[in-house]
Amino acid sequence: MRIAVLSTKSYDRQFLTEANKPYGHELVFFEPRLTAQTTALAHGFPAVCAFVNDVLDGAALRALHAKGLKLIALRCAGFNNVDLEVAAELDIKVVRVPAYSPYGVAEHTIGLILALNRKLHRAYNRVREGNFSLEGLLGFELRGKTIGIIGTGKIGVITASILKGFGCNILAYDIKQDAQLVAQGARYVELHELFRESDIISLHCPLTPQTFHLIDKPTIDLMKKGVMLINTGRGALVNTQAVINGLKSEKIGYLGLDVYEEEADLFFEDLSGIVIKDDVFSRLLTFPNVIVTAHQAFFTGRALESIAQTTLANISEIEAGRSCVNEVKAERKAT
Ligand code: NAD
Repeated sequence: MRIAVLSTKSYDRQFLTEANKPYGHELVFFEPRLTAQTTALAHGFPAVCAFVNDVLDGAALRALHAKGLKLIALRCAGFNNVDLEVAAELDIKVVRVPAYSPYGVAEHTIGLILALNRKLHRAYNRVREGNFSLEGLLGFELRGKTIGIIGTGKIGVITASILKGFGCNILAYDIKQDAQLVAQGARYVELHELFRESDIISLHCPLTPQTFHLIDKPTIDLMKKGVMLINTGRGALVNTQAVINGLKSEKIGYLGLDVYEEEADLFFEDLSGIVIKDDVFSRLLTFPNVIVTAHQAFFTGRALESIAQTTLANISEIEAGRSCVNEVKAERKAT
């Protein structure tokens, strides 16, 4: 199949080209992100291969459908950037890669927790400048701490089991329970209890209308003073301004973000030579107790191999007229 690959980076080209050898699809790589201004790049392609910040809203889908689009192959797990209702109405199939590196994302989550807790980001800079003082670097031990995991799917469950190994107590919230997690000693509770009881809260649910700004002033008010908040899920799970207020009032003691609600204008690009215009994001970076990584939790070699392989297999399934287990349909959007 002839596929327009949007938001291409060198690593996408490398892994997709290698994985495509047995499939033989015609991959045409475009560096720009899919937006209203760049939709024309994908005109005439029956398939578009898109990533997390490509905009596949109703307008984009209608414009691309008019030019022959039949398939969207997401090379990511989340599908909040696609209007699934409009896709269904236009009979455009949407496939995704539901699991490619749940361990990678979970391990990155743990990395953020440990870096924040032991202030490794500050220690790294100090030692390089010959400052060996420990003042201000006091950490805490994870053993015995209560961790609230919101969203106990693949990533949430792995994160919980790693933290169990540290001797943490696990509280969980999800719209459906994972029996194995309960067997490992985690306790499912209502959200307000999780917010009240947790020393560390980690977000692993998808972004849906129900989870949009799940972390906002009312939920932050419920949390323990000095709580650590980690978001490796999706940026808009968190109201960033409310979190900044929480950091300023010291209600939030530590913040680790791999995702940011306005990341589409920032992440995946080298903007080191230009002025960042997003004042909310810039304010976040001024806190000594905040670590932001630019949506890199998934970014391991194993994950990129797996993403490329599954994406191309998904496309071949649909091209052959077979049903694809990784197809996403409108009615699943709220689950
Ligand atoms: P998953 O589908 O296995 O698990 C998601 C879990 O969230 C499910 O158990 C589901 O029941 C639960 N859920 C759905 N709605 C909920 C709600 N309203 N409240 C609480 N829980 C709810 O997905 P996964 O592979 O574990 O990934 C989780 C999320 O992580 C993805 O949706 C994606 O947004 C994000 N992600 C981020 C990266 C990254 O690089 N930072 C990489 C992969 C995935």
